[in-house]
Amino acid sequence: MLEGIIRENVALAPQTTIGLGGRARYFAGCGSVEALRVCLTWAGEKGLPVQVLGGGSNIIFADDGFGGLVLKVDLPGMTFCEAGKWDRVTVGAGQNWDALVEACVGRGLAGVECLAGIPGQVGATPIQNVGAYGQEVAETIAQVRALDRQSLDEVVFDTAACGFGYRHSRFKGADRDRYIVTEVDFRLRRQGRPSLAYPELRRHVKARVDLDALESGSPVLGAVREAVLALRRSKSMVVDPVDPDSRSAGSFFLNPLLSRQGFAALERMVGDGAPVPTFAAAGGIKVPAAWLVEQAGFAKGFRRGGVGISSHHALALINRGGSAAELLSLAADIEHTVREKFGVDLEREPVVVQGLKRHSGSSAPWR
Ligand SMILES: Cc1cc2nc3c(=O)[nH]c(=O)nc-3n(C[C@H](O)[C@H](O)[C@H](O)COP(=O)(O)OP(=O)(O)OC[C@H]3O[C@@H](n4cnc5c(N)ncnc54)[C@H](O)[C@@H]3O)c2cc1C
Repeated sequence: MLEGIIRENVALAPQTTIGLGGRARYFAGCGSVEALRVCLTWAGEKGLPVQVLGGGSNIIFADDGFGGLVLKVDLPGMTFCEAGKWDRVTVGAGQNWDALVEACVGRGLAGVECLAGIPGQVGATPIQNVGAYGQEVAETIAQVRALDRQSLDEVVFDTAACGFGYRHSRFKGADRDRYIVTEVDFRLRRQGRPSLAYPELRRHVKARVDLDALESGSPVLGAVREAVLALRRSKSMVVDPVDPDSRSAGSFFLNPLLSRQGFAALERMVGDGAPVPTFAAAGGIKVPAAWLVEQAGFAKGFRRGGVGISSHHALALINRGGSAAELLSLAADIEHTVREKFGVDLEREPVVVQGLKRHSGSSAPWR
């Protein structure tokens, strides 16, 4: 056992925002790339599976815990470097994301202000191309540095090589579980102004403040950040220990992207009911998953046993003192009902880790 680094029998629920899951057989917090290498080698020698953990805001562990090694990425660091009209910001994977947004806004750097209040760590943001209110990290990430779990070498990916899409990247797709992100480089506009692409946010900001009257850089970006935080709080989408509706893993389902035929089939199934709302999207027609969930009979505030749906957000499944099994059973019922009623398959956003192996059945050879 690696004295002082690897601990045994560690409770996982407190490591997650939803507060679910049993214990990790082994748990290590790694503050350096070398510590990650040592732990991966140790687990490899023992034949143990490894689960990487960031801030625990998009992950659900099973009630019987995890029988391998949970590796918590604690790599620090945040440096700002001027490059013409831009700043290059190099950030350790263990940095808190919202603290980074606050620091950037404070320095007048534009590009991440609409992503304020999203929980979790910087290293997880490229995994699912974190986004909100019309902004996503793919727009500002210049490169991602990662440790290959197989070779233990560090690899650098530029933006194009990351394969970003809607809540997607190569790290969630073909290379799922292959890399540990160690550092992310962002390219942000100095003395910038916000671009408010999302109508709901535009309306919300307009009702609070006249952006045109504010100077570029931190005054105007700060106003947008405050507006985003207020909007998120009104939906319990900021983790707050005194708000039971925020005890979630964020949105549980992605917005489905339908083909024209798929959308026509959905309209036929809906029949004369309410018109189906849509989002503008490349490559198809995007339908709000929240609308499908609510139309399927799972309203905001729905409760079953120790779990339920947030009173403020139909996509946030919440823990009210229940178990992971109860939560996953509710998720499965929602998926089943949406499929039966509307012929649409919902895709889950959070990672579900079950006992010794991942729920979605990764067959990847890496440690
Ligand atoms: C209240 C609330 C609101 C949210 N709102 C949003 C939102 O608006 N938009 C949005 O996109 N998401 C949102 N989320 C989801 C979540 O915050 C993001 O997905 C976040 O990036 C997850 O970061 P984390 O550090 O907590 O990752 P974790 O939950 O710890 O891990 C998630 C996945 O990433 C992997 N991972 C984590 N760190 C690394 C690393 N360094 N290298 C390799 N893999 C890693 C883990 O193995 C796991 O597969 C929300 C969640 C909550 C609870």
